[in-house]
Parts: sequence; C-alpha cells; structure tokens
Amino acid sequence: MALATPIIAATYAEIALKGRNRNTFMRKLINNIRVSLKGEPLEEIRHVESRVLVYLTDAGAADRVADKMRKVFGLVWVSPVVPVPRTEIDDELMADLEAEREPRLTRVCEVAVELTRENQSNATNFKVATRRSDKTFALKSPEISMSVGAAVHTGCNLPGRMTDPDMVVNVLVLKSNILVFTGKEKAFGGLPSGSSGRAMVLLSGGIDSPVAAFLMMRRGLTPEFIHFYSGRNLQEADVAKIIVLAEILAEYSPVPLNLHLVPVVPFEMRSIGVVPDNYDMVMFRRFMFKCANRLAKHDSCRALISGDSLGQVASQTIHNLGAITPDIEMPILRPLIGMDKMEITAWSKVIGAFKTSVLPYRDCCSIRSPKPILTARPQDLLRYSKDMDLEEAVFQALKDSDKVVVGDKTPIISEKNT
Ligand code: ATP
Ligand code: MG
Repeated sequence: MALATPIIAATYAEIALKGRNRNTFMRKLINNIRVSLKGEPLEEIRHVESRVLVYLTDAGAADRVADKMRKVFGLVWVSPVVPVPRTEIDDELMADLEAEREPRLTRVCEVAVELTRENQSNATNFKVATRRSDKTFALKSPEISMSVGAAVHTGCNLPGRMTDPDMVVNVLVLKSNILVFTGKEKAFGGLPSGSSGRAMVLLSGGIDSPVAAFLMMRRGLTPEFIHFYSGRNLQEADVAKIIVLAEILAEYSPVPLNLHLVPVVPFEMRSIGVVPDNYDMVMFRRFMFKCANRLAKHDSCRALISGDSLGQVASQTIHNLGAITPDIEMPILRPLIGMDKMEITAWSKVIGAFKTSVLPYRDCCSIRSPKPILTARPQDLLRYSKDMDLEEAVFQALKDSDKVVVGDKTPIISEKNT
C-alpha cells in the first residue's frame, strides 16, 4: 500500500529571532504560503510547535506542493510527512510501559518501514533521527530511534549507520501527531516576501542581475524590474528573454511583479558628440541609475539593486562605482559586490535562471564603446551630464517606456509609463 502524505511540514529559522515583531512576520509567511499554493488542494495551514503544517485534501499533490513551498522565502526545510495520530500511540505505549515490555510504537514503525521501502532506491544503510517537540512524551528520543530503527532494519533488511548514512528516517513527536518522513529538502530561508518593502532592480539579460534580485528578494524585498533595451522598438530589441528572466524570479514572489522596459535611444541621441568615447560606458550607467531612481521614487521603492561585482568589468572599478551616482540618495544595494563569477554562476543555476541567462542577447552594455575610463571622477560626470542634458534624456526614456506585469499567467504589455 502506497503511503499517502497529506501534510507538508516546514520549518523557519530567522523569523524565530524576531522578538516582538514575530507575529507580523509569521502572518506574512503563512499568507505567502497560502497565495503561492493557489489552485492546490489545500485544506488548512497550521502553525504548530514552531512548525508550519500544510494540510492537503489530496495527498497526490504533495510533491508538487512541497516544490512550490521551497520557493517561499522564510522557510528553511520542507518535507512531505505522514502523520500518526497520538491517539493511536499513547494508549499502546502506556500499556507497554506498565507491562514493562519493549515499546512497540506499532503504527509509527509500520509507517517508517513503508516509507523506507518506497524511498530507499539505492540506499545501503540508514539511520533514524528523532526529535521530540512534546517533551512530555513518555519515551526519550534515543529510545524512539531504537524501536523504529529495529523495525526498519528487519522490515527492509537494511543495516543502520549512525555517521553519514545513505538515508535518514525522521520521527518528530508533536502534541497531537507523530510525523514520520524521509524526504527533507532545504528551502532558501530568509525573510517573507514583502516584509522589507519594495526595491527597483536593474535587470540585464546576463547572469548577475537575476541573482542580485533573488538574493535581495530573499531578504523580504518585493522587486520591481527595470531593463534598458537598444533598438528602435520592443519588437526589434526582442525582450522575450528579459520577460522570461523576470518570470523566473516572479516564481519566488507571492504577488505579480512589474517589469519596466526603457529605450536607450534618448541617451544615445544626446550623448553622441558630447560625451567622449571613454566616458560613454560610465555615463550610460549613470543614465540607467538616474532612470531607475526616478521610477523607484514614483513607485514607492526604497532602494535600487544592481548586479555589480567589484572589478568584474571596467565599469565596475572602485573609482567608477563611486563616481557614477553622486547625486542619488536612495541606497544602492549590490549583493554580489564581493562574489566571484563562479559563486554567482552557482546561484544562477540553483535559482533556475542560468539556462535563460546564457541565451544570446544583444545587451546595450555590450555594444558601448570599448576601453572605458577606469578612474572616473564624479565632477566630470556631473559636467557631462549637464552638457548632454541627461535629465532630459531620462525624462524622454521613461516617457517612451513600457510596463509588463510578470507572475500572472500571461505577461501583458500595458500602456506606456507616464
Ligand atoms: P553579466 O552576467 O553579463 O555580467 P550583468 O547583468 O552583470 O551580466 P554587467 O554588464 O556586468 O551585466 O552590468 C552590471 C549591472 O548593471 C547589471 O548586473 C545590472 O544590474 C545593470 N545592467 C547592465 N545592463 C543593464 C540593462 N540593459 N538593463 C538594466 N540593467 C542593466
Ligand atoms: Mg556583471
């Protein structure tokens, strides 16, 4: 008989440290889980003894629901579990203890054996890991592990192994149920989406900026994306790849997200013949940040996010990072600043963006003039900004921009931004 697993259990970590704000974070977390499971056979979500238990009406949906829950920030571990009601265990245990017999824990052992059979695949050994959330339970954790371990050993013909076992059978004693489970997968931790406010992400088509967005979303920020395209219009720019990247990030968000698509042409029209070639790249980056800043203020964002990594390319020297935005007061968050490309690429694969990020795309940064200055000074950039009327370029670019909503079933390109 295949075991139905109608409950998904999950743990959280950082929220537990939140002191007086803990309830607000918890409410947000549970609400985000509920929203991310829209359309799933959900019966109820309970917060029980420092765990979140998601009860399903159809056990067949368990794996899919667990996958979705792994994308909810704030959760640390997610496991489909089989509940054994304490009513089925407590009387039997009392009788065994009174008769001074070995405790049988019959139903827990049956479930553990069945789950091990179902999931052992190539495992050649196992261990039972028991935790008691309810410390009043009459057996201590090692005693429970011994009983259940003996049953699995006999029932599945597997030897036990305490260090580095191929498989772990988990037993968690709660007040009303004993949960048994073998699959325990790591989620991303962090803070619930929306608990840190909004921020505007400069999203390119590359590897870095989707990772930067993800890492800040994990800190509870709701992102909005801004992308700059070259070409005379959206069709020519072929921004489908950017929309896909934003959609991938939106899988980690309980709410649909805005993506602003901004043309680069207004910058180029004004900079040609005014900004020297070696300043083109840094001035262009200044243009991007100024546009992002303006839109961010308009949309109640409290920070800008970019995928800069110190020294990765010429525009990201310490001098240039310091010179490009002297007049932007909003914090600019650069979560990748100290990471190398290998670490960033590993994250990109984990979050599911890598395959899309490496598809060919004509990014406007890649077509800027080569050999940018490495040691730009803010006063020079401010002077060129005046010379080319950067403010006007920003105004024009935003006027000509479009907005796409991602994270709904189909992205809809709506009317122009104003
Ligand atoms: P790559 O993986 O190719 O390095 P990248 O996204 O980091 O991609 P960079 O040229 O290193 O590209 O740019 C640094 C940062 O500037 C990006 O992480 C992103 O935040 C921002 N940026 C670059 N190009 C664009 C663009 N076309 N639209 C929006 N933001 C951009
Ligand atoms: Mg980069």
